[in-house]
Amino acid sequence: MTTSAIWHPFTQHGLAEPIPLIERAEGAFLFGTDGRRWIDAISSWWVTTHGHCHPKIMAAIAEQAQRLDQLIFAGWTHEPAERLAAGLRALLPEALTRVFFSDSGSTSVEVALKMALGYWRNIGVDRHRIVVMEHSYHGDTIGAMSVGARGVFNQAYEPLLFDVATVPFPAEGREQATLDALEVACRAGAAAFIVEPLVLGAGGMLVYSPSVLAQMRAICTAHGVLFIADEVMTAWGRTGTLLACEQAGIVPDLLCLSKGLTGGAIPLAVTMASEAIWAAHYSADRSRMFFHSSSYTANPIACAAANANLAIWREEPVLERIATLTARQARRLEGLENVENPRLCGTIAAADLPGQAGYLADMAPRLMATAREAGVLLRPLGNTVYVMPPYCVDEAALDAVYAVISQF
Ligand SMILES: *Cc1c(COP(=O)(O)O)cnc(C)c1O
Repeated sequence: MTTSAIWHPFTQHGLAEPIPLIERAEGAFLFGTDGRRWIDAISSWWVTTHGHCHPKIMAAIAEQAQRLDQLIFAGWTHEPAERLAAGLRALLPEALTRVFFSDSGSTSVEVALKMALGYWRNIGVDRHRIVVMEHSYHGDTIGAMSVGARGVFNQAYEPLLFDVATVPFPAEGREQATLDALEVACRAGAAAFIVEPLVLGAGGMLVYSPSVLAQMRAICTAHGVLFIADEVMTAWGRTGTLLACEQAGIVPDLLCLSKGLTGGAIPLAVTMASEAIWAAHYSADRSRMFFHSSSYTANPIACAAANANLAIWREEPVLERIATLTARQARRLEGLENVENPRLCGTIAAADLPGQAGYLADMAPRLMATAREAGVLLRPLGNTVYVMPPYCVDEAALDAVYAVISQF
């Protein structure tokens, strides 16, 4: 183990915890070099939607890899990106007219923040304050951390993080405090509000109601504050609908998508923008262009994978699978007797294990180790355990996952 040069993310190597070596994956299963098999109960950190190595996505990647591997995207274009942009336009709300490519969820958030600030600057209005929700997570780059919850994971970088206005999490029964705080922040002339619709993922799978989401949207609209929906985790069916925003009947001004955009096969992200935001950058003046790019923007192979994902959404009964999984999750969650605050949002089931809370609580590594031994990949958030499997997971595998949790 210690002979590897790899520095893993969110891993304390000093604890010498085992790091399984995986050589193959299929559907909801991971296979190790030692012949062992694990159920991927967290979709490889929330990315795998339909299942690992979906044949249509793998075929699209292989086919595209024969044609065009990479292309500068400033001033040049290619068919997979054009097809993907058109496909996203057809699938997603009409008001999101423009598609900007990047390569990770964090970057899609940075892009959204920069577009929001660029919008206000280009229309000549001095607004720059960003409003965020308590317990949010938007990624690990400096801007994304700035709009996310502060805690042990970003304490060292705090001096670099910019100031934001924070509204409380709209826990059941305390929704009005959130709406009031948002009203105050918006009235003060904020540039944008960024939020994870319906479920705060890394914050502990905290669920709030579609009606609060709709009311928050309305407050932003009333004050002209741009509404940024970070659907990096919640999109692509995870919450029961293609977008979580659909359940509130709202459309954001900016929409961040990544993780399940390629079915979870290969990195890609998009930030979709309203026509007004595009129009604020559209000019014969080069100083008003959108100043952002990364080397692999709209990588053709990644776009081909995303096009295959869109085809799966069009051609396969994805929403039916999601409804089936949701019902199966609900039944098993109800059966858990050793947990508190059970919550379900579409395919995401979560609950708290009684005991010490907080990200560094020792509950998480102990449960992770127990699960790993039992052939299940789980990664609790502090004392919050959650099950977020690929949609193809079968009943037997789900039973095995819940058996681990119920016996902990
Ligand atoms: C995972 C996540 C991100 C960051 O995405 P990366 O691809 O890991 O950079 C941003 N926002 C939300 C809501 C996420 O769950």
